[in-house]
Amino acid sequence: MKSIALVAHDGKKAELLAWVQQHAAFFQDKQLYATGTTGQQLKATLKLPVHCLASGPLGGDQQIGALIAEQKIDWLVFFWDPLSSQPHDPDVKALIRLAVVWNIPVACNSATADYIVSSSLFSQDYQAAKPDFSAYLNRFSQS
Ligand code: PGA
Repeated sequence: MKSIALVAHDGKKAELLAWVQQHAAFFQDKQLYATGTTGQQLKATLKLPVHCLASGPLGGDQQIGALIAEQKIDWLVFFWDPLSSQPHDPDVKALIRLAVVWNIPVACNSATADYIVSSSLFSQDYQAAKPDFSAYLNRFSQS
């Protein structure tokens, strides 16, 4: 089962909920993770189980980042707000960074999320290329 993490800043929560409602059928057979407040709202909207982590500014973004580093997340939907500053801006950057490090798809707006949700790769057993970090990990080993 595919695992999807969803996060929305306060200024983007209404947009994420509307988008999720529009695609409710898609989420029926997915394992869902979310930061605390986003997750509570998603549960109420989708009437589906959502694994709620801490609220984003209280560590939830970092918890999702850790799940990505453990390769437990297949897709990150992260509606961050470009028009407001966030107290946890370093965590926001870190989350996006880890999604890129581990080569998982990231949707930061509804247009990108629309493209991903309608991709035929979702219904296939698509495996994203796993990055090879061996050169990095062995950079201090004696040759
Ligand atoms: P929240 O966190 O879902 O708990 O509001 C979102 C965020 O700001 O990362």
